[in-house]
Amino acid sequence: MTRNLITCALALFLSLSTIGQVTIPADSLKKHVYYLASDSLEGRGLSTEGGLKAAIYIANLFKEIGIAPAGEGYFHPFYTRVGQSMLKGNNVVGIIEGTDPKLKNEYIVLGAHYDHLSYTYIDGVKVVYNGADDNASGTSAIIELGRALVQQKEKLKRSVLIIAFDGEESGLRGSIDFIGQNVIPIENVKLMMSIDMVGRYAESNSLIMGAMANLTGGIELLDRIAKKHEVKLKEIPESLSGRTDSKPFGDIGIPAIHVTSGIVGPYHQPEDDRETIDYEGMEKIAGLLFELTIELANKDSLVPNKKLMVAAKQSGQPFFRYGVKAHVGSSFHAYPNEFFNGKRRFSYEVGLVSQIKITKHFLLQPEVLYSSSASDYETGNFRVHSLKIPVSLVIASSGGGYNPRVYATLGAYYRYHFSGTANGKSLDFDNSFEQTETGIVYGFGFEQNSVFVSVNFSLGLSSLAKDANMSDFKNRATYFSMAYMF
Ligand SMILES: [Zn+2]
Repeated sequence: MTRNLITCALALFLSLSTIGQVTIPADSLKKHVYYLASDSLEGRGLSTEGGLKAAIYIANLFKEIGIAPAGEGYFHPFYTRVGQSMLKGNNVVGIIEGTDPKLKNEYIVLGAHYDHLSYTYIDGVKVVYNGADDNASGTSAIIELGRALVQQKEKLKRSVLIIAFDGEESGLRGSIDFIGQNVIPIENVKLMMSIDMVGRYAESNSLIMGAMANLTGGIELLDRIAKKHEVKLKEIPESLSGRTDSKPFGDIGIPAIHVTSGIVGPYHQPEDDRETIDYEGMEKIAGLLFELTIELANKDSLVPNKKLMVAAKQSGQPFFRYGVKAHVGSSFHAYPNEFFNGKRRFSYEVGLVSQIKITKHFLLQPEVLYSSSASDYETGNFRVHSLKIPVSLVIASSGGGYNPRVYATLGAYYRYHFSGTANGKSLDFDNSFEQTETGIVYGFGFEQNSVFVSVNFSLGLSSLAKDANMSDFKNRATYFSMAYMF
């Protein structure tokens, strides 16, 4: 009994004290940098053999460590145009699932790009850009952070995604693609770190955690942990860095931090070699990041600060979009002063649509349509061909891209009739029929992947009858609509 108690107490003590004890040894970090930044990987260029070698190395380590694949496998390929050619890249994505039944659906992303600038020939001599600091250092850090986190798995309430991004040097292609692919519901990512260039702490004597303020309470949390690990923090830039993979995450309102020891070495030079890296400094930084990740994975809530949310609202949908649109449905003539209406007939409209963003939820939508509407009545039928210009205000929900977005529209239109027939005879716009028409349009629908599906109503306000002997009649139409925005 006593022995059991002692064992229990000992186990409790051990589990409480392990957070402080975890070190990610410099030697382990060095091993990966030595491989990734070796000449045999030829600078890990996007869509090169060396890049693929690096990706395989990382995926194999994820497997060995016990990091599960996120999705069907570790590799998440993507295609991207660089200059004239279409290149294939591979993000390597692993997941450590959280233990809390609710919070495990929220994610912390530890990301690092593994690609670099490949190689070139100078005076006939092959020169490899080994990119030891940029970013074999960060890649190595996420591998070993992954190992330490797997070992302390039971301490993670939230899930942690470990992502080695490809194509960063070609314009953040890997991280942009990862967000688009929605491997996990992207809005469930509560915090992202891009660990990019952490190999020169001794030289810079400071760690930069860019945009940490974008997490409410982030600075306080970081200060406390940094003190404990005796890591010197440099003044933290508030704004999002555009130079690393945290950028696309920050743009959609996720607190996204650029972790770096700064640009102090031979940046983007062939001299960024593995012998120049400060592995002791990397150990310090990795220790801090480990504890930070554990705390973040257990906090009750992770909330972006107000400023970030406002900025994210202003991005999202581009300012101007345009596309093609088709309406198919039926129309009829309404006689406000009579006891009858015309009968419905097939009717359609095709043309161009554009959207101008006012705010995230309000848009202006001008359209130019060819319109053909008709109505039947006892003595014959009527059809008119026109140019129609509706301008609507759109109220849209959040979403966009892969996430469906619902919206409602209300607007006014102007219509010019260029030809038509009534009972088989051409319309006489000089004496009998009005050549122009005004009215209102309204509708509702949804958008996903730039495809719009909606139901629209068109209500003529002006009469089509010019002749005083004719009864007033107005156009009414109902359409099922589809549109595609480029
Ligand atoms: Zn980099």
